[in-house]
Amino acid sequence: DVDSTPALAVADLVKTFGGIRAVDGTTFSVPAGSITGLIGPNGAGKSTLFDLVTGVLTPDSGEIRLRGEDVVGRAPHEVAAAGVGRTFQTPKTFAGMSVADNLAFAATNQTGESALNALFRGKTVADEERAVAERVAETLDFLDLSHLADEYARGLSGGQRKLLELGRVLMLDPSLLMLDEPAAGVNPALTEKLLERVRALNDEGRTVLFVEHDIDLVMRECDHVVVMHNGATLATGTPEEIRANDRVVDAYLGG
Ligand code: ADP
Ligand code: MG
Repeated sequence: DVDSTPALAVADLVKTFGGIRAVDGTTFSVPAGSITGLIGPNGAGKSTLFDLVTGVLTPDSGEIRLRGEDVVGRAPHEVAAAGVGRTFQTPKTFAGMSVADNLAFAATNQTGESALNALFRGKTVADEERAVAERVAETLDFLDLSHLADEYARGLSGGQRKLLELGRVLMLDPSLLMLDEPAAGVNPALTEKLLERVRALNDEGRTVLFVEHDIDLVMRECDHVVVMHNGATLATGTPEEIRANDRVVDAYLGG
């Protein structure tokens, strides 16, 4: 059944750094069309997992499937071209570049030529530039950043920079969004705007996987939750199932 193929599935995934088993056999799926929260204490292996899925790191062993397709060994730009967009906890925006140029740069340079070719195959350079400019304008509008288009990124607040970081990733039209602590350090009003945009992206059919430390936010926003602990999967399920799981309460949520 094609519709039940997960957007992302990892199985028995292992990544060691010297003697440290950063990811130690984790197994879970991200249902297609879901908003899935990835939680777990510091050091649980969440960021390493993101690096493995996006091709920044190669696993020692285990499987990584995007919509059923094995992607172990793919380079980051190939994973991006396959529809995975990933934000970083510390935004990868360029302080000395305008907001609009940051977005244009993301479309053309972020993931190398092959991603660009996939989007604009068969178009002339002028057509490509027009397509990028249109997408920049759409993305600015979508994130309510149009009034800041010509500002240097360094002039943005921390929260606005998180929005721009999301915009950077949206330039390549990802079907799976992986967000690393998108709300960390963002004020409540901008957090609400960011979450509202994430919901809109999900309503368009995009799958969302996000790391977040605010458990109440995760329980409120997600339809599926994955709990990592010591590099392994401690539990997966609905927010209600996670809240009721004794192992999760003991290891992580506290008494
Ligand atoms: P999380 O994102 O859940 O806080 P990480 O994936 O960052 O966890 O880290 C998992 C474990 O792997 C930690 O013990 C961390 O210190 C270790 N680790 C992560 N990256 C490296 C690295 N490049 N070299 C050595 N150890 C690392
Ligand atoms: Mg981390």
